[in-house]
Amino acid sequence: MFSLGRWVLVVGLCLGMWVTRPIARAEGRFGGGERGGIERKAIHHNHKGRKVRGAGRSREIQGVGTREREEEAVVEVDSGDSVSVGRPRRGRLIGGIPLEESECLAIKASSFPHRFATFELVHLLSRAANHVAERWPGSRLCVGDLSREGGGRLGRHRSHRSGRDADIGFYITGPEGPVHSCERFWDIGRNGRVRKRPELRLDEERTWELLRALSEDQTARVQQFIIARHVWSRLRAEAINRGVSMSEIEKIESLVSTDRRHRNHIHLRIACPPSDMPSCTDGPALRRRSRRAWRSAASSKFRMKKRVEARR
Ligand SMILES: [Zn+2]
Repeated sequence: MFSLGRWVLVVGLCLGMWVTRPIARAEGRFGGGERGGIERKAIHHNHKGRKVRGAGRSREIQGVGTREREEEAVVEVDSGDSVSVGRPRRGRLIGGIPLEESECLAIKASSFPHRFATFELVHLLSRAANHVAERWPGSRLCVGDLSREGGGRLGRHRSHRSGRDADIGFYITGPEGPVHSCERFWDIGRNGRVRKRPELRLDEERTWELLRALSEDQTARVQQFIIARHVWSRLRAEAINRGVSMSEIEKIESLVSTDRRHRNHIHLRIACPPSDMPSCTDGPALRRRSRRAWRSAASSKFRMKKRVEARR
């Protein structure tokens, strides 16, 4: 049996350790302290390139202004670039980069844990959203699921596993101008209006500009857009009305596949970034259609209806 004095000694020692441990941790003595924290922060900042966590301030990815930030960008690629491994339906993601919200880009609350992707995809989305907002101030792109931090299976999605897929909302306009809400994706009806909210409508002009910015990006190459046929038809018609050249329309059309489930968002997939080869594998595009098939489908409602029924 311990005497009272020994008990006091043991309790005193335990209390002392309990009090001093957080201090020791902060000094880095247990390996997870301030030093580790700073390193993590630095990597985080490098990867994001445009937002400082905790400071609540946005920084542009494009036009990284100062020399320090340019130097950081170089370090970032050397030290911890993301790698897309395997196919979008089977693969995973190493060093996934979190997409961050900004004035021109919002993330659906339910998709926040799945906002990771390759460096190329994250920056592509930010550049395209910036581009649209520069032309139409106040525009805010709504982004849904990308991938989990380490990739792999994600909910009901078949793909979204290797950091190269993103679900993005259409630009929506209401009676008072652009709609900024990103609580959900808006379901677009055949008349171009939001189902159950007819005062809101698909903004074909801004959404077309988004597709154009994404498809013409010089850094990341878009492999595929999946959109509901009736939404794509509206976007295409809008482009023709505005006098967009047929070569430009056909270029984007060659990337589009249609799927009736994609009436409230666009599924975007980028091709394997060259730096991720040979780990990354480009799977075949889904349901790509020839231009001829497009024309015949657009000209015949009956045929379209039959195809929809056949797919059920
Ligand atoms: Zn998707």
